[in-house]
Amino acid sequence: VIRVVVEDATGAGTLELTVKESHYLTQVRRATPGDRLELRDLSGRRAAAVLESLRGGSAVVRIVERLPDAPGPAPVHLLVAVPKRSLLDGVVRASSEIGASRLTPVLAGRSVMLPGAGRLERWRRIAEESMRQCGRRVPLVVDQAVPFAQALELADPRSKRLLLHPDPEAPFLAEVLSARASGHRAGGPVTLAVGPEGGFEEDEIELARSRGFLPVRLGDNILRVETAALAATAIAVAAIVGPRLAELPPEPSGG
Ligand code: SAM
Repeated sequence: VIRVVVEDATGAGTLELTVKESHYLTQVRRATPGDRLELRDLSGRRAAAVLESLRGGSAVVRIVERLPDAPGPAPVHLLVAVPKRSLLDGVVRASSEIGASRLTPVLAGRSVMLPGAGRLERWRRIAEESMRQCGRRVPLVVDQAVPFAQALELADPRSKRLLLHPDPEAPFLAEVLSARASGHRAGGPVTLAVGPEGGFEEDEIELARSRGFLPVRLGDNILRVETAALAATAIAVAAIVGPRLAELPPEPSGG
């Protein structure tokens, strides 16, 4: 089944796709008449469809049935120290694709980068573009960059709050979020704090602890800020989405 993001997936009968949607379907995905499709719009509404015909660059699809709405993003809030150059652009794009819900750029004590004017607009534009590209239901929320202490206050107090720290004594993130871990509601919200190139300062770690954050690690290697942010996001999203999928009825066949 080929997934296509369309303006409105609620129609019935046949639907002529826009030039851009048709281009994606025929040139990028190389779809041919008879192929099964899943149409999804930006409100998360979904329909099973079949590519009926191609007329002069425009694809016409036949809607077969409405499917259950796509789930919203996993409640994963990433507090990430702004890395050097424009590396946060990639973190915004990839954490949106992976399925995080919110990203707060952070200015930590050892941060070397102050985001320039226009950065917030750029990050929000990337989040919008990514939503269209990956078919998520709502855009990743990107906040204004704030100092670390302020970022901690933005964390949902009901979330599992975790500070990424390459300390060999710290428990592993995946272990802490596993269904077996005591004190963590499987599938509940998670907040992840990722430090700058020079790491968190001791007093930042203490402040985070006092706000309910538990230091956790990813592995034995020291990862770059952007790698740590994405690895942690993927682990947290998987820990949330896994239990959610287990509760869903099987998908209709589409046909
Ligand atoms: N020397 C620094 C330190 O010891 O914290 C390394 C900082 S690392 C380049 C940047 C950030 O990525 C860290 O502050 C942490 O949040 C995260 N990070 C990198 N590797 C990690 C690991 N193995 N486990 C947990 N977090 C990690």
